[in-house]
Amino acid sequence: MKLIIQKWKKRTFPKKLFLIFDCVAVGILSIHFSFAAYAHTFSESYTDRVFVIEHDWQFSILYPISTTQLGFTPPFLGVAYVNKSAIDEAGVTIEEVSAHEAKHIEQFWELGFSHFGVETWKLEGVAEYVRGKPTADLCQPKEDESINRLNYRDYFIVVTYLIEKQGLTEEQIYETSEYPIETAKKWVLNNRCKKI
Ligand SMILES: [Zn+2]
Repeated sequence: MKLIIQKWKKRTFPKKLFLIFDCVAVGILSIHFSFAAYAHTFSESYTDRVFVIEHDWQFSILYPISTTQLGFTPPFLGVAYVNKSAIDEAGVTIEEVSAHEAKHIEQFWELGFSHFGVETWKLEGVAEYVRGKPTADLCQPKEDESINRLNYRDYFIVVTYLIEKQGLTEEQIYETSEYPIETAKKWVLNNRCKKI
């Protein structure tokens, strides 16, 4: 068998592009695996597995499609990253966001492949519940708040209602088919927001 290594100049343009993409993907994966190896060796809890990334550009290397995300948990690697500069800008704390991402690590661990069959509102709502509050203000969200953060606020509200009013366990939430946002909103806002 002959191994033929083509010279760069002789490659067609699509092949050059593919090779560049390939090298970048392998490079990014190697960085993730390094974090994962470190975490598997030294971490004692899920929260230990969350790495604080100082700068936006560093976070973009780990998560190239990121926009304003405060954190990111790649599937099944057992690690997560939080974006310090985005967190500072959003006016929240690293501890809160780390608690959210640590829950995602646990969800991948516990749910396995069935994780992909669980609706977003359940996974994100439970992670927000563990965090203690959503990024958008619970009682008085900003008028120009992003749709994404308003959705997460809804997920938080529904999960809070299901746990604190209906008494559902985390496992029962992942299995439920109802999304009682209107009832939940009334109950949670009534209980958590003081009326002026
Ligand atoms: Zn999340």
